[in-house]
Amino acid sequence: MSRPAIARIDLSALRHNYRLARSRHGGRALAVIKANAYGHGAVTCARALASEADAFAVAIVEEALELRDAGIRQPILVLEGAFGPDDLAHATMHDLWMVAHNAEQLALIEAHRSIRPLTVWLKMDSGMHRAGIAPADYAAAHARLRALPQVGPIVLMTHFARADEPNEAATADQIATFDRATANLPGERSLCNSGGILCWPAGYRDWARPGILLYGADPMPSDDHGLKPVMTLESAIMNIRDLAPGEALGYGGRFVSDTPTRVGLVAMGYADGYPRVAPTGTPVAVDGQLTRVIGRVSMDMMTVDLTDLPAARIGSRVELWGNTVPINTVAHAAGTIAYELLCNIKRVRRDYI
Ligand code: PLP
Repeated sequence: MSRPAIARIDLSALRHNYRLARSRHGGRALAVIKANAYGHGAVTCARALASEADAFAVAIVEEALELRDAGIRQPILVLEGAFGPDDLAHATMHDLWMVAHNAEQLALIEAHRSIRPLTVWLKMDSGMHRAGIAPADYAAAHARLRALPQVGPIVLMTHFARADEPNEAATADQIATFDRATANLPGERSLCNSGGILCWPAGYRDWARPGILLYGADPMPSDDHGLKPVMTLESAIMNIRDLAPGEALGYGGRFVSDTPTRVGLVAMGYADGYPRVAPTGTPVAVDGQLTRVIGRVSMDMMTVDLTDLPAARIGSRVELWGNTVPINTVAHAAGTIAYELLCNIKRVRRDYI
């Protein structure tokens, strides 16, 4: 019998979310499928979107080459920008678009020799202060690239630090800074990640860059934006035992109940990507009924409270996150974000529907 721990991936929900992002923003959208499509399987997700995605984005050249090897033909933007001369050779050979965000990279592009022109997305630091050309230097960097015969289209881009905070002025400031510094420059523009697409229309330009929203994890869960969860992480009850009042459960004996408690053991642990730090009380659903994690999450298994679910049996289906248990709720309980939970999924089988 195969282990019941499964990540079910709904590819029609992925397509729904991509279309929603594209139509909300207008223009074109590159689907951000870095980090193995945020844990969903990059090649399968790229294939599922291949007939409609304008382009894809990954973090590093190796991820782009994996997609090329799998026969993906769309342009692929390499976001991270930590590249060397070999990466530029791959980029021209495999039609990868490269983000450049500092003077050292401009020098590498200058030194790069190729008869096939390289598409460069020139990143501005409009306020995130992590990487990017300073607004005051941006026009000069742009002119430097434009003068190079080995450089083709240059897309003007920036990245938001706080786009998922609708009432935070920082994003409006970033948009204004970007617009001022690019006012007289030719070329397409791209500002919006998921948060930007969902709540900053002032940032809509030629290209959207949706990531987390493609997977149905809303970066602003307090509003319903019509996203559909793509991954359902599920498993099954593999043992049931009764805990007497005062008995301690699991590693560290952290959970001790003063009432009789029926404990279900679930085939899922932190080696699968379920967060060890999820505390007692984190919601799970057993046969569609909400209940809670109790005790510490172990490497391969975890325990849930079946006291109020008398119908639960060995083999009962457990949803760790998905349509019944929003991933954002689990992330919040574990003190992290949905991005991290999704990227950490490993070992469990992925089952595509
Ligand atoms: N654009 C850039 C430059 C990124 O680095 C990322 C992800 O980190 C994205 C877009 C997608 O962001 P999100 O997943 O918040 O939509």
